[in-house]
Formats: sequence, structure tokens, C-alpha cells
Amino acid sequence: MDDGITRRDFLAGAAAVALASGERASALSAASDPLAEFDYGAVELTGGPLKRQYDRIHAAYLALDNDRLLKVYRERAGLPAPGKPMGGWYDRDGFVPGHSLGQYISGLARIGRTTGDAACKSKVAALVEGFAATLGPKNQCFAGPNAENLWPCYILDKHLAGLIDAHQLCGVEQARALVPRVFRGALPYIPECGHDRIGKKNPPYDETYVLPESLFLAYELTHDRAFYDRALAYLLDREFFDPLAAGDDVLPGRHAYSHVIALSSAGKARLVLGDEKYLRAIENAAHLLQSTQQFATGGWGPNETFIEPHKGQLYESLQTTNDHFETPCGSYAAIKLARYLLCATGDARYGDRLERVVFNGILAVKEPDADGDYPYYSTYGAGAHKVFYPKKWPCCSGTLVEGVADYLKSIYFRAHDGVAVIFYAPSRLTWTERGAAVTLTQETEYPLGESVTLRVTSTAPADFALRLRVPAWMSATPQLRVNGKPVHADLQQGFAIVRRRWASGDVLISEFRLQFRTEAIDDLHPETVALLRGPLVYVETNPAGGEAAHANPEALRPASETPGIFSSPAGSRARTYAPFYFVRDEAYTMYAQHG
Ligand SMILES: [Zn+2]
Repeated sequence: MDDGITRRDFLAGAAAVALASGERASALSAASDPLAEFDYGAVELTGGPLKRQYDRIHAAYLALDNDRLLKVYRERAGLPAPGKPMGGWYDRDGFVPGHSLGQYISGLARIGRTTGDAACKSKVAALVEGFAATLGPKNQCFAGPNAENLWPCYILDKHLAGLIDAHQLCGVEQARALVPRVFRGALPYIPECGHDRIGKKNPPYDETYVLPESLFLAYELTHDRAFYDRALAYLLDREFFDPLAAGDDVLPGRHAYSHVIALSSAGKARLVLGDEKYLRAIENAAHLLQSTQQFATGGWGPNETFIEPHKGQLYESLQTTNDHFETPCGSYAAIKLARYLLCATGDARYGDRLERVVFNGILAVKEPDADGDYPYYSTYGAGAHKVFYPKKWPCCSGTLVEGVADYLKSIYFRAHDGVAVIFYAPSRLTWTERGAAVTLTQETEYPLGESVTLRVTSTAPADFALRLRVPAWMSATPQLRVNGKPVHADLQQGFAIVRRRWASGDVLISEFRLQFRTEAIDDLHPETVALLRGPLVYVETNPAGGEAAHANPEALRPASETPGIFSSPAGSRARTYAPFYFVRDEAYTMYAQHG
């Protein structure tokens, strides 16, 4: 444009106008995308492993003690501060004081929106009120010198997410006013320009480039231009997004989690700025993650660092470290990236990645205890155990609740002509289709069972398309039947699409075949493999020492009354294989020589 208004300014103005007229956040360019997210409240889980974890996480975070969570902030403000110190990372002299308060608020706000649990909403309101009381006239939003000096951007990102979710999802009015106050309080400590963090140990640690997504959301909520300007200043264009958009691989050597979560800032920047460069960047990053960095679980980043591809480094890492994947944080980043890509491209392949990292990543972590012991790294070497992180309340305690709360965002997506089913999980979706209130109820034993039933109820017959993701591991397209009769499905972008006039009582059944297959650790070690069945990584449980090879996967047979467990054939030494997410305290081996 020639009148001095840049395209960015123009689009930002348009976004502000759209928001002012009551449009949803990010409605501007998202409106033309092939898929869109449903609200947290549109979906519920009704059974299965995701719901079991969801319910436990719901209860565990609801049980956190508000006084303990607020203690470091109250001490800083000189207020009475009852309750025991939290310990670990969270304390005043801890590694990142008070870091995860915003994430606990955010996770509880999301769960409260989905479940309607009034206890979540009142806890969110109480934590926001308690935090607000500590800010004082200087809007002091950090809990100690380590927070101010080492991690101000990291913590500001969590504060903003918590306050925005508290307002948007739980209707906590006070949280909206705190968004600009917290930002002003952080300004003396955060840099004016962004910078990169290279490896795990290279200072400065603080990750300016994780912030733009939250800053754009804060801008959309408040229309305060300061958020928008700082988001632009922190976008990691020159070092990361520009070369990624040009097709370059700039991952090796970089700190893994923070750069994958930064891709969500690129996804958001595309929507706010209308610049497709950011889509090219995140598509290429997702391609590089899958083709050069990824373990069978969907995890990446041994020792929190991206490897040099084609040098056998994933294989080497099996022997040299136990820290293969920062699982709750990394899964959360991968889940968000997949959702941005699903919406922008409508390509079901991103649903495959999302499913893989959910079932083998965040669903498979050791369950936290009640006092701050949390899972952090997953270990993929031989004879491993699931363990807690040695320090209490690490970063992963914040992303665990946000990531699990987001299962509800990953199951169904809105398409222009209907609904896309990405996740197969017992669940229920309610939406409005051309004036009809429609409910889709999904019943399945997946990922252990091989059939999915979708039942439609509707206030009136409605024409729409149901898109079912056809996972890439499936060797044949699924058999689909509506009301018992085989139906034709169009295959497009990894979806089987059934279009018809749906009425109450209609039942769509899809049949899958789940078969074992193997996947090599990396391109230089094709003989070292993980065993998979459908989306699930299988591990040998309680492996005998010295056994270097997996059992022949074709010879495995269902083992017991517990569905999902397989064993080697009679005559050989009894070996048991279970989905990685089944493993509790027993030893396991994920990678071994081809059986
Ligand atoms: Zn973490």
C-alpha cells in the first residue's frame, strides 16, 4: 500500500474491527481455512484411556493448594503467606520461581469449560484474585530475582495464557484487566528485541520467541497496540522462520521444546498478519521433525537438543542418555503445531502426528504424585523405567495439564461442509449444522479395537459431510457402512468423506485393520526398530537382560484377558509386549534389533 500503511497494519486494524464487532479471536484469515477448532465446551470424552487420564489430571490439579501456589507471590508482596513452600523449581530461590501458576490456571479453565465443573471455575477465579492482590502499584508479577533476571519472558508467557483463558473460558472479568497490568509489570525485565536461545545450556536462557502467540492473543483481547508491537519484535524471523520458509533445515543444535512451541507463534502470526511465509515455515518444520528428528513415539530432541540428521545420532542417543524426549512440554508443543497445521491445510496427515505423540507421549507419562513429583523425560533406551524428574514442580507440571485439557480440541474439527473426525476416542460432539442441533456420539475401543461407531442425533435432517481421518499406517481404506449398508466415500487429503442427508438414528461404522509393523530408529540403523500397532508404540515389558532382538512381530498373539497385550508364541521364552502407555513401574525396552 502506498499511503504509508503496511499490510500488517491494515490487517491488524481489520482484525481489531472484526474483534470489536464480536467475532472470535483469529477469525480473520482463519475463516477461509479448511478446518477450524471447536470450542472446549463442544466436546466431551465419554470413555477410554484419554478420559481416564483426563479425569485423573482434572482431580489432581483441582486438589492443588491455593495458598501454596500463591505463597511466593504473597511473600514478594509482603502479604501474609500461609501454607508450606511448594519446593523445587517453584520456590522463591528455586530455578524458576512461581513459573507455572498461569499454566495451572489455564489448564483448569480449559477443563472447567469442557466439563462445566463449577469447582474449576471457582478455583480459577480464586487464583486470579489471589494473584491480583499481590501485584501492587508496580504490577510486580514475578516471584523473585531468578524469575526477573533469568526467565521473565518465559513466565510472562504463562501468566498471559492463564489470564486470557480465565477470562475467555471461565468468564473471570478481573483477569482481563490484569493482562495489561502484568505486561506493564514485566516491561522493566523483558528485552525490547527478541533473541534466539541456541542449545540447552547457552545463556541467555530466556525465550523471547515463545511469547508472540500469547502477545497476539492479548492484543486481540485488549486491542492494546503494545502487545502487537512486542509480538512483532519477538518473532524469530531472521534466525528461524525465514530459513524454514525457504526450505532450510535450521533445527540441528537448537533447543528442542522452545523452538517447537515457537512454531505456534508462527501459526498465530500467519492468522494475525496474513503472511503465508509462516505457514511455509511451520510446514517445513513439521516435515523436518517427522523425517529427521522423530522417535517412533513422535518425540524428539535427546538432551533437549535437535540432532544432526543422517549421522545416526538418534541411535547413539539410546546408549548415551536417558533424556530422550521432554514429554509433557514437547507433546504440548507438537499438539499445538499439529492443530495449527490441520486448520491451515486441511491435511489429515497432521492428525496422524498428533495422534502418535498423544498416545505414545503425553498419555504414556508416569502419573504425577500429589506433592510435585512430575514426569519430564521419557527414556527410549533398553531396560528403562518411567521416572519422576528429580526436582519438584518442573516446567512439565504446567504443560501436562494444558496438554491433557487440549485432548478435547484434537478430536473433532469444523469443516465448511461438516465435521472432520481426527481422533478416534469415545466422545460426544454437539454443534449446529444449517440450523439443526446435531450430536455426534463416537463409540470405540480404538486404539486397541478395530471399529469406530458414529451415531447421529439431530433436531432436523441435515446435509453435511463427515470426514474420517484414514491413518497413513493403514494398508487399505477402511470399510464404511451407514445403517448397515456399505457406502461410497471420497478420499481426499487423508480423509474418507461421506456426504449425505443425516437424520437422527443414523449410524456410521468404520472398520480398521490393526497390524504390527516396525520403524527404524534412523536412516543409518535400519536394523534397530520399534514395534508399532496402529498408532501405538509397543514395548517389551520386563525384558530379560542381554536379549538384543525383538520377537518376530508377525508371530505375536493376544496374550491375556487384558486387551492390547501380546506375547511371543508358545515354545519360545515368554516375552510380553504392551502399548507404551500401559507401562507403570516395570522395566521396558522400546528399541531392539529386527525380530
Ligand atoms: Zn518441560
